[in-house]
Amino acid sequence: MTALAHRPPALDKLLESDTLRALTQQHGRAAVRAAARSALEAWRAEAATTPFDTAAFEAACRSALERQAAAALRPVFNLTGTVLHTNLGRAVMAPEAIDAVVAVMRGASNLEFDLARGARGDRDDHIAGLLTELTGAEAATAVNNNAAAVLLVLAALADRKEVPVSRGELIEIGGAFRIPDIMRRAGAKLVEVGTTNRTHLRDFEDAFGPRTALVMKVHASNYAIQGFTAAVPVAELAALCRARGLPFVEDLGSGTLVDLTRWGLPAEPTPAQSIAAGANVVTFSGDKLLGGPQAGLIVGDQALIQKIKRHPLKRSLRLDKMTLAALEATLKLYRDPDRLAERLPALRLLTRGQAELRQVAERIAPAVALALGDRVSVQVLPCSSQIGSGSLPVDRLPSACVAVGAPAGAKRAGRLPDRLAEALRALPVPVIGRIEDGQVRLDMRCLDGAAAEATFVAQLGALAQARL
Ligand SMILES: *Cc1c(COP(=O)(O)O)cnc(C)c1O
Repeated sequence: MTALAHRPPALDKLLESDTLRALTQQHGRAAVRAAARSALEAWRAEAATTPFDTAAFEAACRSALERQAAAALRPVFNLTGTVLHTNLGRAVMAPEAIDAVVAVMRGASNLEFDLARGARGDRDDHIAGLLTELTGAEAATAVNNNAAAVLLVLAALADRKEVPVSRGELIEIGGAFRIPDIMRRAGAKLVEVGTTNRTHLRDFEDAFGPRTALVMKVHASNYAIQGFTAAVPVAELAALCRARGLPFVEDLGSGTLVDLTRWGLPAEPTPAQSIAAGANVVTFSGDKLLGGPQAGLIVGDQALIQKIKRHPLKRSLRLDKMTLAALEATLKLYRDPDRLAERLPALRLLTRGQAELRQVAERIAPAVALALGDRVSVQVLPCSSQIGSGSLPVDRLPSACVAVGAPAGAKRAGRLPDRLAEALRALPVPVIGRIEDGQVRLDMRCLDGAAAEATFVAQLGALAQARL
């Protein structure tokens, strides 16, 4: 057989080879034909210089088809040290949540069907009971994310009316969520109250007028004001609102459902505390500290929640069955707080101690050193992780990392950290670390369990060929 020829066979002839037939079985006729056509065109573009090579043509088809077949959205190793990393998908789901999602995906479910009455039901019913039980609120509903929750609450309760907010709380969360913009989009009029660092109860009283719809308090989430500061305690503001007959709405941002100090983590306000302090509506995320799927949870007074649920935007922002299934299963784990740190991955990752993480780093470091050889130096170093997603922005969790830098004796790291980071991202399960002090640092906090460690180590061989 002549593998090399100056003229290629016709496309239909090429498609009949054993290799392309096998690829057709796997990827389908249309995709293989398109890949073959592109490979032929690429050859023609330089036909004057290279003879047609069937093996190279088939390899080009195979790699193009494999590239297309690889999922665009796929798992990565989050070794950034930020546990709830918005760009990397935030909370890792509990096995219970994963099983619940798979179950409702496989077939029909009672999503909006009341099995007891045999009549149409409400999709919120699957989670409302758990949310009221866990927060002490009268009623609850849920939407696509917390940004949507804030939008819906304002649209439903403050349309064309005024909403006083402290100037210290006019925040921007990453991804263009800004309180003043959301207000405008919801049709509410923001009334700025107090100053950036200090807001007093009398500032709110001065802001109240006939067009005031409600008072809103926003958790500062991703920044902290320090020094000469004053904010009105929730209970005082709630009492003032109650006296004036105005709803008091609090956007808690992360809103964990349990007291995190129990696990040595920094304190974060809970929806239950806000409700107990007199808040009428509280919104918070499902996939931040709560450790569930992306969702925006709204709890509060029965009459206000009913009004929120009846707003037309609720239909546009509602949750799908997969999210509801994951949310219900996640919320159920909170019924047993004693076992929560074992069962809820987000909390398990946040509570891993530095000694344990150092052991992981000591196990992993030799494999990294072996894969990269004497082109680098590999150390185990202490480092600090962050919670992420605007939760507890100034708090750090002591952790341990595998730090990879220029070999001992090299004067400068040069481009090595960037090239190494790129090579790590190109692995079959991409590894995302962070670059600090001329080193790529791989924080071990989210490398969770023996199976994950084994997968991580098994793919490191590919680094041997990386250009550093
Ligand atoms: C994170 C956050 C939001 C947005 O929540 P998403 O669930 O990401 O939409 C809104 N408000 C505050 C205070 C936040 O911290």
